[in-house]
Amino acid sequence: MKRFAGCRVLVTGVADGIGQATAAAFLAEGARVLGCDLQPLAADPGYEVLPLDVAAADAPGRLAQRVAEALGGLDVLVNNAGICPVAPLAETTDEDWDRVQEVNLRAVFRLCRALYPLLCASAAGRVVNIASVSARFANAGMGAYTASKHGVAGLSKSLAAEWGADGITVNYVLPGAIVTGITRELRDADPAFREFWENKSPLGRWGQPEDVARGILFLASRDADFVTGHGLAIDGGAMAVS
Ligand code: NAD
Repeated sequence: MKRFAGCRVLVTGVADGIGQATAAAFLAEGARVLGCDLQPLAADPGYEVLPLDVAAADAPGRLAQRVAEALGGLDVLVNNAGICPVAPLAETTDEDWDRVQEVNLRAVFRLCRALYPLLCASAAGRVVNIASVSARFANAGMGAYTASKHGVAGLSKSLAAEWGADGITVNYVLPGAIVTGITRELRDADPAFREFWENKSPLGRWGQPEDVARGILFLASRDADFVTGHGLAIDGGAMAVS
């Protein structure tokens, strides 16, 4: 029996990186998956993907409706879609600031709220939000992102406090430097950036999207029945050492 057989899962941002690896891992373990993304997928992933912007006004309603129609309910919500523009705060416009908060934080809140009734009806509702090590510390040039990820941590703990009575757990992960669409270009172009994060981890390497997917699946599994409001660092130990 596969670990997620019969489990109904929604993952946002599945065209690349952590979301792609997470949806594939759920699928491989027997889950029924629905995904969404702004950009088209390079290849057929073997599950339905809705083309949409998670920050759009109608996105939560559309997703909730499609989840109910296609999956007949929801057991696991993974809020993964995110953006990370790099700019000093003094040069960040209101529009740039708002877009980061809308995609990385507001959409997470709105999706959780829209899918709450379906999660309540599940025997073991699970929410896993993707934060970042930027929910714990700051790097220059990532102010809007860092604020949004601190917000994801606070939102996840607040939801955990409110939804425990419904049997829903809400956790978040804090990935370190992971090789994905967000980081690939800069990592290839800038050896100092690549080496900084390589050296920051005692394991001496960058993470792969599958490293993060395995942590997300743990938090979504019955092994994590008594884990809620928790932030799981998946950073190769980067935050544990100075
Ligand atoms: P990625 O760019 O490879 O994947 C993100 C996916 O989300 C893309 O397919 C993109 O098209 C999609 N997306 C972006 N905005 C969207 C929107 N408005 N609506 C729908 N889809 C949207 O990047 P990734 O690193 O896999 O990012 C996934 C999550 O992991 C993000 O929340 C990111 O902040 C977080 N994270 C990444 C790292 C890292 O080092 N890569 C570290 C910490 C946290």
